[in-house]
Amino acid sequence: MADWKQDTIAVHGHSSVRAEGIDPVAPAIYYSSTFRASDAPQFAEMATSPRHIGFYTRYGNPTHAQAAEVLAKLEGTEVAMLTASGMGAISTAVLALVKAGDHCIAQTRHYMATAKLFDEMLRKFGVDVTIVEQTDLAAMEAAIRPNTRFIYVETPANPTLVVTDLGGIAALAKQHNILTLADNTFAGPINSRPADLGIDVILHSATKSLGGHSDITAGAICTSKKLAEEMWDTSLTLGATLSPMDAWLLLRGMRTLPLRMEKINANALALAAWLEARPEIEAVYYPMLPSHPQYDIAKKQMKGGGPVVAYAIKGGYEPTSKFVSGLKLASQAVSLGGVETLAVHTAAMWAGSLTEAQMRTAGIAPNFVRMSVGIEDIEDLERDFAQALEGSGAA
Ligand SMILES: *Cc1c(COP(=O)(O)O)cnc(C)c1O
Repeated sequence: MADWKQDTIAVHGHSSVRAEGIDPVAPAIYYSSTFRASDAPQFAEMATSPRHIGFYTRYGNPTHAQAAEVLAKLEGTEVAMLTASGMGAISTAVLALVKAGDHCIAQTRHYMATAKLFDEMLRKFGVDVTIVEQTDLAAMEAAIRPNTRFIYVETPANPTLVVTDLGGIAALAKQHNILTLADNTFAGPINSRPADLGIDVILHSATKSLGGHSDITAGAICTSKKLAEEMWDTSLTLGATLSPMDAWLLLRGMRTLPLRMEKINANALALAAWLEARPEIEAVYYPMLPSHPQYDIAKKQMKGGGPVVAYAIKGGYEPTSKFVSGLKLASQAVSLGGVETLAVHTAAMWAGSLTEAQMRTAGIAPNFVRMSVGIEDIEDLERDFAQALEGSGAA
């Protein structure tokens, strides 16, 4: 059936890979780096069309193909290419599309490694980059040059969950005949489908909500057949190949993505509103709170706010540190989108690598907490946050 809804795609969206008349309900893992030809003519055929999923695993693997099929359908793109990490997907897509002398546009706030790719690596190879405030569409348009290849966005983005207007960016780019790339890791395909709004390439750290169980590192590029074709050689050359086991875990994780996301959206919104009402809290940042500066855009392009909630604790670094240390149910760990709730004191996380001035520029306040909300019982979460806030000395 061509018109299945996302809940059904998540469970049944992959084609069968039948072998010897056996067709397992849970897909098999093809844990093989290479695939045998039956005779010399067949080998010649495999080698001339090496994209065949049974040639060599860096070129593709039946388990990759099954997971990619589900993800492409969930995102509403023609195809998806899987990589060994989110950064594998982002660097492959970006490096495939630019050459020396080109120009591209990115946002002021990106995932740290993505910011490095634009700020340092691209410039090193002679690609010019303009960094623009992501909420300013007029500034985005003003930054476009004759040699601009694409606009790269990420929404919602750290640290204050700023939302970029995907439809606005896509319309602008189409007018100027340039491409658009969007990192959809924070929202995910259940909450936001950038392709429906005209975005050309959707990038994922599948390590996060798509995998959903904090047990794999994986990435994905969701796009048209034509653009995937353009990225194919770069993908083979950079070699960020996902292991078949992790592709299988991704496939398994995605089966419950709609269910998990429903609970995560509800928990995160409830907790964000609960925190906003607490006397120890200075500010809460969550796209689905009416107090969020881009609430109207978020409502328009997202079905739910996703797992990440950020907030500032009254009283500065010390009470914030005490609060996070006092959490018993929520773990102190980076990453997001898993079944378990995580919370980190952002300033403590970057203290080793950024100076105070750099932290200020990046918008990392000393009293900032970033949390990924899981699927636990909301009352248990609230009880944990209440006892940690009460013991923090925040006021
Ligand atoms: C985690 C993350 C990445 C990088 O993904 P990895 O799987 O760790 O390589 C990129 N973008 C966003 C928004 C992320 O949260």
